[in-house]
Amino acid sequence: MNKKSILCCALCLLVLFAKAQQITKESFQVINLDYPGLESVKKNYDSGNYEKAAEALLSYYKLRNAKKEPDFSNAEAIVDVKQPLSKANKATADSALLHRFQPHKGYGFFDYGSDINWQNWPVKDNEVRWQLHRVKWWQAMALSYYSIKNEAYAKEWMLQFLDWARKNPLGLSKDNDRFAWRPLEVSDRVQSLVPTFDIFVKSPNFNASFLMAFLNSYHQQANYLPANYANVGNHRLFEAQRVLFAGASFPEFKDAQAWRKSGIEVLNAEIKKQVYPDGMQFELSPVYHAASIDIFLKAYRSAQKAHVANEFPESYKNTVESMIVAFASILFPDYNAPMFGDSWVAEKRVRLRQFSSWLEAFPKNETIRYFATEGKAGKAPNFLSKGLTTAGFYTFRNAWKDPATIMVLKASPPGEFHAQPDNGTFELWKNGRNFMPDAGVYVYSGDAEIMKQREWYRQTRLHNTLTLDNKNMVITKAKLKQWKTSPKLDQLTYTNPSYPELEHQRTVLFVDQQYFIVIDQAIGKATGKIGVHFHLKEDSKAAKNDRQNSVQTNYTDGNNLLIQYLGTDKVNLNAETSKVSYEYRKEMERPAFVFEKNKADGNTQTFVTVLYPFEGQKAPAISFKENAGNDFSKGQINLSITVNGKTKNIKSLSN
Ligand code: CA
Repeated sequence: MNKKSILCCALCLLVLFAKAQQITKESFQVINLDYPGLESVKKNYDSGNYEKAAEALLSYYKLRNAKKEPDFSNAEAIVDVKQPLSKANKATADSALLHRFQPHKGYGFFDYGSDINWQNWPVKDNEVRWQLHRVKWWQAMALSYYSIKNEAYAKEWMLQFLDWARKNPLGLSKDNDRFAWRPLEVSDRVQSLVPTFDIFVKSPNFNASFLMAFLNSYHQQANYLPANYANVGNHRLFEAQRVLFAGASFPEFKDAQAWRKSGIEVLNAEIKKQVYPDGMQFELSPVYHAASIDIFLKAYRSAQKAHVANEFPESYKNTVESMIVAFASILFPDYNAPMFGDSWVAEKRVRLRQFSSWLEAFPKNETIRYFATEGKAGKAPNFLSKGLTTAGFYTFRNAWKDPATIMVLKASPPGEFHAQPDNGTFELWKNGRNFMPDAGVYVYSGDAEIMKQREWYRQTRLHNTLTLDNKNMVITKAKLKQWKTSPKLDQLTYTNPSYPELEHQRTVLFVDQQYFIVIDQAIGKATGKIGVHFHLKEDSKAAKNDRQNSVQTNYTDGNNLLIQYLGTDKVNLNAETSKVSYEYRKEMERPAFVFEKNKADGNTQTFVTVLYPFEGQKAPAISFKENAGNDFSKGQINLSITVNGKTKNIKSLSN
């Protein structure tokens, strides 16, 4: 859309709202009057009786909605209108009556004034101002109205809808457009307005003039999207899926078919670009990966609703199915995947609901059934350890249910916005406990202070990997050298060009499906302080033992972990500052340790560390020896490990 037409549109809308009571010929410009059911609308329109035409259109929508439940199938959070109204929704709706809104769950409610100030920016986190324009509380108002039938919610929602449209016309200012008209926010509104409309249209206060204002504003917002999709990433997916939903939900618009077509085209193209052959979405954030599965399936359901599902080829569904199985492969038994990149913890009941909805799309997939039913039905995957070798997610696993030992390690190509300089990092699970959760994300974007907090959590040294002088690594592509699995030994070896003149090679051995040996090599001309970092859970009471170069957790339930440097050369073991954030804007301190050596020349520095889960309070005594033929740099392993006096030989599987 060019500047002139944006301005024209803005003016049109201003005029429209100034004459909110006036229904004119132009009010119907966007409606397909030949749509089945609109015969009476067309008849009145043709005879120039626009008021009556609008009344007929209102009757059509009231009748259309009388027979159906509000369509929350695309809602971001689970909404079940058959459940009693939640206290949280009631409180949100009641606050909204007083213009106290909570734009973002990471912060509280803010007063936007009796004459709503949509430019108010109480905390300079960009998300606070962006998400204000998702007007999330409208859904809470609709649900409260649905449940209590108090007309105050309907009247106030109509006022706020018109107020938003009047004060945020497209083209008002560059600054305001950046927030109110960011395509992601527009798409969010276009999506959530569907069930909100479904509910409020039944109110006796919902009249014909409001209907015409609503439809014209809705049309402008949905129509804005196809020309303004984000170029890449999950935003583009969200926007396309929601345009398709808009077209499926309001087929009475002239442009409905074009919206559906646009959404389907974008999703068909993007699923090929954004999903690796191993099933992972290329942003490499497990949380966004799961969200992408939902996007693709919601789009498919919208297409079914509009009877155009056959416009998605068979390969589309196959790819979504592979995304679900890939996601299952990196899950811990609590249904959380590692918090790599921009990720946070998810509630198990939410993930279970997701798997149930995915099962509806793939009822023959026994793996999905297994996860949807917590293993009560279906079949566990026919593998344990799994390498998603394009995305670079490697899972070492001995069971699908507790007591399980699992490590998920990331050695990936560059992700998009949501990825971090963290190649080599991992999380380690043993029997109901995530011993080494990723630090998480804490915040997204905003002013300098917010960005400082975000950068703090992104640091390489905050991850379980190798650093040079504690600096951030360059985000590049890790190169896989070996990935072999067997019940006796899983071996991963990869290299990562972490810094100029410094390659990090990491080998991870999962021995007898019981414990891990991590071999790190710093290879290249670079000199400086090499550190190998380990971050533990906030409640682990982890303590170091300088004599043994080891760290152990001290859980009183006896489910513990030993981390021990096995080399006999000199290494410094130091405690570090670390934190973990499981939810937006919530953080905790936690113990962390680093093994450090100085690299003074071009010689390779090697670190051999064992991560040994054990029962009880006393860690086992462990030592190791390199045997003839052992060559760490080639990833050819031949070691002897002695645990509490018992020696075992560990050899790479032959090629
Ligand atoms: Ca991280």
